[in-house]
Amino acid sequence: MTSATQVSNGAVPQYAQVAVPVHLNKTFTYRLPAAMQRAARVGSRVMIQFGAKPTTGYIVALSARLRAGTSLIESEIKDVQELLDVEPPLTPEILEITRWVSDYYATPWGEVMRAALPAGINATVEQTVSITPAGREALIRLSEPPTVAGGLGKPDTNAIATDDKLKLIGHKSVTTNARTRALRLLANEGEFELGAFRLRMGATQTPKWLRDLEHEGLIERSYRTRLLPTRAKRRRAVRLVKSPSTGYAGVPPASLPPNERFGQRREAAKQAGRLRAQRLTEAQRRAIEALRANGNAMAAHDLVQTASISESVIRTLLKKGMVEQFEEEMRRDPLARAELPVNENFKLTTAQLAALKAIEAPLNQRRFAPILLHGITGSGKTEVYIRAMRAALDLDRGAMMLVPEIALTPILSRRLRSHFGDQIAIFHSSLSKGERFDEWSRLRRAEARVVLGTRSAVFAPVKDLGVIIIDEEQDASYRQEESPFYHARDTAIVRAQREPAVVVLGSATPSLESFHNSQTGKYGYLHLPERVANRPLAQAVMIDMRQVFARRKKPAIFSDELLSAIQETHLRREQSIILLNRRGYSSFILCRSCGESIECPNCDVTLTYHQSDRTLVCHYCNHHERAPSQCPVCGSKYIYYVGEGTEQIEDLLRKRFPNLRLGRIDRDTKSRRYEFEKTLLDFGKGEIDLLVGTQMLAKGHDFHNVTLVGVVSVDAGLALPDFRAAERTFQLITQVAGRAGRGNLPGRVLIQTYHPHHYALRHACAQVYSGFYDEEIRHRRNHGYPPFVALALLLCRHKDQARAGTTAQQLRNALVEANRDHSCRILGPAPAPLARLRGEYRIQLLVKSRSRKQMRAVIDAAMKSMEESGNDLRSVTLEIDPVSMM
Ligand code: ADP
Ligand code: ZN
Ligand code: ZN
Repeated sequence: MTSATQVSNGAVPQYAQVAVPVHLNKTFTYRLPAAMQRAARVGSRVMIQFGAKPTTGYIVALSARLRAGTSLIESEIKDVQELLDVEPPLTPEILEITRWVSDYYATPWGEVMRAALPAGINATVEQTVSITPAGREALIRLSEPPTVAGGLGKPDTNAIATDDKLKLIGHKSVTTNARTRALRLLANEGEFELGAFRLRMGATQTPKWLRDLEHEGLIERSYRTRLLPTRAKRRRAVRLVKSPSTGYAGVPPASLPPNERFGQRREAAKQAGRLRAQRLTEAQRRAIEALRANGNAMAAHDLVQTASISESVIRTLLKKGMVEQFEEEMRRDPLARAELPVNENFKLTTAQLAALKAIEAPLNQRRFAPILLHGITGSGKTEVYIRAMRAALDLDRGAMMLVPEIALTPILSRRLRSHFGDQIAIFHSSLSKGERFDEWSRLRRAEARVVLGTRSAVFAPVKDLGVIIIDEEQDASYRQEESPFYHARDTAIVRAQREPAVVVLGSATPSLESFHNSQTGKYGYLHLPERVANRPLAQAVMIDMRQVFARRKKPAIFSDELLSAIQETHLRREQSIILLNRRGYSSFILCRSCGESIECPNCDVTLTYHQSDRTLVCHYCNHHERAPSQCPVCGSKYIYYVGEGTEQIEDLLRKRFPNLRLGRIDRDTKSRRYEFEKTLLDFGKGEIDLLVGTQMLAKGHDFHNVTLVGVVSVDAGLALPDFRAAERTFQLITQVAGRAGRGNLPGRVLIQTYHPHHYALRHACAQVYSGFYDEEIRHRRNHGYPPFVALALLLCRHKDQARAGTTAQQLRNALVEANRDHSCRILGPAPAPLARLRGEYRIQLLVKSRSRKQMRAVIDAAMKSMEESGNDLRSVTLEIDPVSMM
């Protein structure tokens, strides 16, 4: 790959190799018009005509001539239409890693590059016009008195007519005038931006004479970085008005030291009363709430958006004297005014110190080192991450921290901001496109050296990356579930290898794959086996719902044990979390008497119930059987489909405990980011007693007053038709249990289940990772699942069910044909668990092999033969290393 401006032999490039974000996994050759040849760089974006429409592409190579032996015909090569960057946004490191992703996941390079760049990135170049030396010479000659009257408006006594001059005076006088004026303007005032130049010349479009001047070599068009109009440095903002005696109007002054808080709180309550007396409208109230949540001040524009109010609401509040207006610095940083926690300078525990040392050693030696940091919940991993990143900065290197879902971690963002200040760029989920671009640019310019972000931040342009932290490395959200499919953890490991950097995979419940790698010595292994400050782990207990059913004779959502535990916790003024483990949509059969669900005889996964024809189907191998009317194990006729929602649970709890302040977090609230974050922050401040939510609640939060965690409907997760169902459930329970008892109070975890004997639950309750690992890894080995085999999922989609079926069958035939050496196992076609989505039928095939290389060879050959026999491969999705089998 050419990484410099010019092609290797120093010649000016004539052609660009362009990757395009379309399903085709190849690059295309375009011609560079003269004006772009010097400015084009590998890693810059271009506009090209691709098929019928203009498309953004990415230059991946430049060349002075067409490759020998190419089938391209010169006249058929299209020009690049526009150059979008002068400074390439894709650095050589990012080009490298995007190319690896493209190769490994068999996904178009252009799509990966698009995913690697911030959505808010705009054209950053402008075209310029300047005069050439030849142009200056021509101008000098022209300035001499003309021989022909009317030519240049001056008498010309020079009898010698040069070629240039002949050309100049050979035109009609208007044109000739324009040509001369243009050359003068450029000679006197220097380079012009093309649009500005046209304006000065009074032309709306690029006139023919200008193109002629360019062809004649008298002027030159080129590209430069756009000189940005100086952006408004200040913008209008509003803040809550401070009342003389207390804090802000109606605002509990949370920023005060704790000892002052109590008295203030009473004042605040009075204030809140006054606020109610003011009789605010719903919108006004939202505005005030939003301001409070944002450190009492916000840009007017942001306030309008976050609180979804109109400008008039702000005007009214101004009139009421509740808010005041001011001008604020335009640093587009959502945490700029957030309350930051005080950095506690802990003395690291022995285990933390040992871990830090083990990370620093390869960091100091600029060595690649993948390390699994296995630390139980509350063992102080985050503290180790922070110190490791600090160590990288001290070496004048960069750092990256990836987290599963940043909206979940407002507290972490603040903690890191308070440590790293402006050195950290945060790809916060509530950033607008423009803000995201600003943060990205700070990294690109090396003004910021640390990045905190989710999945796609793995492509962030951190300069001289020294350490990558992947928190909760087992989390499924590191996998992008749409094209380009990639796994951010695995991508980060490869990126670290190339930099070279240290990559730390942190978890209390490592993925089977990562733990396996640490066992085989592929990764280093660091262990933090105890909680800091000798805090005990919460005690976890299972509640057997079969017995609850036997007592009540009807299915219950809550056991009496859990209900009374909620009550007791509340009476002690402590907080509770109720977690509903419900992923997806699939129904399955569960016996309420014995807890049995029905599994595929071939695949060791739960069968999915299809109501339409009352059958049970395996979504891996397509095994079918009739849905039984009684439990095949115990004969009971109490078999049910499982599924309650968080909303239903919240309602039930509200009725049961009218005095509790409830909060709910699930997919619905997640789309309203602001509310979501606020709920978490409020819970952290103790303004919510009980939080109900899905698995999002399980991760990372550090709430010190939570002493009860209840898990309802854990069986839904266990029964998913996915070979990782047990692993996921184990991780979920262990993590959520880790939310309890993080302060100085002992925690308690109650797990309601119909499967109290399930090994995932038993080990989760015992909270011993290795016990679970040993059992699970045996299953994986016996049934041929990762990490012992490589997996690929091929999904055929079509609006027409029969067509989807035919394609799948053809694909199977092609795979079988390519698999003559039997290095792969080919399963399916079978309906996907999501058998129909957005009007398309979905049929899948699964390919397994002990050799990843062979697997790719077989798939590539099959796809090629599919394409050759005229199939449109856009209806086939290939996923390498699928994470969710749904
Ligand atoms: P983890 O990320 O492993 O769950 P954290 O890093 O969040 O753990 O630490 C858990 C709690 O312990 C936090 O409140 C943190 O501030 C505190 N903590 C971490 N390290 C120390 C230490 N060395 N001494 C005292 N407290 C610590
Ligand atoms: Zn049964
Ligand atoms: Zn099966």
